[in-house]
Amino acid sequence: MDDCIFCRIVKGEMPCYKVKETAGTLAFLDIHPVARGHLLVIPKEHIQYYEDLSAGTAQELSSVLQSMIQLLKSKLDFTDYNILFNNGPASGQIIPHLHAHIVPRQKDDRVMRFDMGPARDEKYFKELLACLKDQA
Ligand code: 5GP
Ligand code: ZN
Repeated sequence: MDDCIFCRIVKGEMPCYKVKETAGTLAFLDIHPVARGHLLVIPKEHIQYYEDLSAGTAQELSSVLQSMIQLLKSKLDFTDYNILFNNGPASGQIIPHLHAHIVPRQKDDRVMRFDMGPARDEKYFKELLACLKDQA
């Protein structure tokens, strides 16, 4: 897409700090890192949502994620990390081109965490399960 920043990076029209490129993916440094080593891994193809990945690209992306984590761990001082895909604006996705964040974490760094939701009763879970199985 012409007006997509990440497509422009893929096409070489905008610069990035590229870490790795494969046939279908690109891994580069996030320009506003929340931690040292904060990386983005994207499919070259412009899609917004994870479920729109082709099976082949999903596999390639997964394999690049693993190799980037191994690389980061071998060079930087951390063992724990988040992998985060924001999908759609309500989830916090600002750039509407699918990307995985790899965020190295340190104890008590306060970068981010999901709070636990409220406790739910059995009725809640049974209804939800019935709904999901209905549509499966
Ligand atoms: P989102 O909220 O969409 O999941 O995250 C978008 C991420 O892209 C943010 O962490 C932001 O710092 C990063 N970002 C935005 N524009 C650019 C850019 O031009 N180059 C790079 N390398 N990262 C960017
Ligand atoms: Zn794009």
